Amino acid sequence: MVYECDAYTMEKHLPDAVALPRSTEEVVRVVKLCAEHRLPIIPRGTGTSLSGAVLAVDGGVIIGTTRLNRILNVDYRNRRALVEAGVPNLWITNAVKQRGLMFAPDPSSQPSSTIAGNIAFNAGGPHTLKHGATTNHVLGFDMVLPDGEVVWLGATPDGGEDVEGYDLRGAVIGSEGMFGVITRVVVRLMKTPRAFRTMLVVFNSADDASRTVSDIIAAGIIPVAMELMDQPITRAIEDAYHFGLPMDAGAVLIIELEGHEAGIDRQLERVTELCRKNNARDLKPARTPEERAALWKCRKSAFGAIGRISPNFVTQDGVVPRTKLPEIMHFIYDAAKKLGLGVANVAHAGDGNIHPIIFYDERIAGDVEKAYACSTAIVRRCIELGGTATGEHGIGVEKAELMAVQYSADDLDAMQRLRRAFDPEGRCNPHKMFPSGKRCLNFNPQRQVAV
Ligand SMILES: Cc1cc2nc3c(=O)[nH]c(=O)nc-3n(C[C@H](O)[C@H](O)[C@H](O)COP(=O)(O)OP(=O)(O)OC[C@H]3O[C@@H](n4cnc5c(N)ncnc54)[C@H](O)[C@@H]3O)c2cc1C
Repeated sequence: MVYECDAYTMEKHLPDAVALPRSTEEVVRVVKLCAEHRLPIIPRGTGTSLSGAVLAVDGGVIIGTTRLNRILNVDYRNRRALVEAGVPNLWITNAVKQRGLMFAPDPSSQPSSTIAGNIAFNAGGPHTLKHGATTNHVLGFDMVLPDGEVVWLGATPDGGEDVEGYDLRGAVIGSEGMFGVITRVVVRLMKTPRAFRTMLVVFNSADDASRTVSDIIAAGIIPVAMELMDQPITRAIEDAYHFGLPMDAGAVLIIELEGHEAGIDRQLERVTELCRKNNARDLKPARTPEERAALWKCRKSAFGAIGRISPNFVTQDGVVPRTKLPEIMHFIYDAAKKLGLGVANVAHAGDGNIHPIIFYDERIAGDVEKAYACSTAIVRRCIELGGTATGEHGIGVEKAELMAVQYSADDLDAMQRLRRAFDPEGRCNPHKMFPSGKRCLNFNPQRQVAV
């Protein structure tokens, strides 16, 4: 039953079988057997996808990488590591932090989400604003193609970082498991920054918080992170974990600067001025590494806190130009209100990447349809505002139809042709990302309430 869905629970379907190989060779054997029998193969990490990207729509064989979980080699001189595909993101930093190194991409799911899952979605996180996403930190990997052939794309474990020819590594990053099964990955390690300034900034409204984000970037300052949490999520976190967050704040921002000691306080002063100009009512700096860790723990516990207040929720992942943050926040609140649903917001605000969390109860008739309608309307609005349907959670089955809103038929056809170069039969993770795919909705989306 664990494999009937991922963290997007609105659609469910059981695979015919699940294979948990322990080596590239075992993956090859499973893939060849599936090729012989023309079975779909679905690569899967730990299933934290929020878009139904590992749903076995037609059944088939899920190839899980949870036993491919070894860090094979750390090359400290060249600051890189060779890891198996199922290694959880955070394990890499944990393995090298004593030597002052880290693996930079930090999705909130980093204790559990795997490096190959991160590659398939080009995962980001709070610190993407300055460090970039997974594509900026993965140098190369091997991949078992749907016919069983193994190819190495990008930098090899012993080679240099630059590879001649097309950047096929880059083409696979973000391909949502449709090109093959990745088994080993070379990642880049970064030096841990020397100085941090982290603070919690309290506002009376999400508008003021959003405007602050735009003003800071407009002033030429790139903090390493600017995370927004609105009142419902701040309250939920505080109720669950008692971090000391203000229960009456309209919204809070966690702003972090990093770099060298020289100059960082000047930047902090400027950021403080901009917060005050936008009516910040309180600025609480983290004074110790422990206080800084507690602030990040509180942000990364957000999804867990929701479990206490709603039996079901769906998380959206649109992007808008930063200056449109106030507009999209109003749209989200209005849409949820019209449908009588609860909503809470976290956002990688520096990137304009919103994560509205819409509450529903699948036991109440009509609630699933309403949540689906609300969620879809928000993404459509993001696209209308000049943004995109996903920042980091992928398209999966959830947003496949919306790809046609964002892209022309020619664009989609070009994407499909690239896919077929890797997987001519379309057996690898079928029905994802492209419109008119089959779905497993257990409700009628046409019955949605207009938003
Ligand atoms: C609480 C929570 C917080 C989250 N926060 C963030 C966040 O801050 N940033 C963010 O980007 N995402 C976030 N996510 C979404 C999710 O964690 C990421 O997308 C993550 O990268 C998925 O990794 P996974 O190992 O769980 O992959 P899965 O969910 O198992 O699979 C995801 C995709 O990867 C493909 N895949 C998996 N393994 C392989 C492989 N070996 N070869 C080829 N394709 C493969 C699958 O086919 C699928 O398309 C969050 C999710 C949760 C539940």
